[in-house]
Amino acid sequence: MPNCPRCNQFIDIQSLSCPYCRIPLKAYGHSGIPLHRAIGEASLCESCTYNADDTCNFPQRPHARECTLYQDISQIKLGAKQNRNTNSNFFSPASTWVRRNQTWLLLLGLLFISFLIAL
Ligand code: SF4
Ligand SMILES: [Zn+2]
Repeated sequence: MPNCPRCNQFIDIQSLSCPYCRIPLKAYGHSGIPLHRAIGEASLCESCTYNADDTCNFPQRPHARECTLYQDISQIKLGAKQNRNTNSNFFSPASTWVRRNQTWLLLLGLLFISFLIAL
């Protein structure tokens, strides 16, 4: 459950505004889209992926205090690290190869079975 950026109370992820302090939490007119807000002095852009890779062309960059597209760069790095950890197990290269060559393996299996039947 997320916390309200203003009053820090636990709130429902679907809430359009905080039930305690009434701060809007979703983008105006787009009730499904979360509205990210800067906490403290730093702007959102300072920790945003789209600022880091220079792909954002929003006029409020680099001083955005509110943004619907904000993507926390630390979460992306964490996700990439976790992916690397899960991919580094011993069987991973073999299973990846099998997944990629599934069709050929199936054909080879069918050929082998037909060969056995023919004998
Ligand atoms: S997407 Fe929003 S938070 Fe991210 S760099 Fe652009 S304006 Fe800043
Ligand atoms: Zn609140």
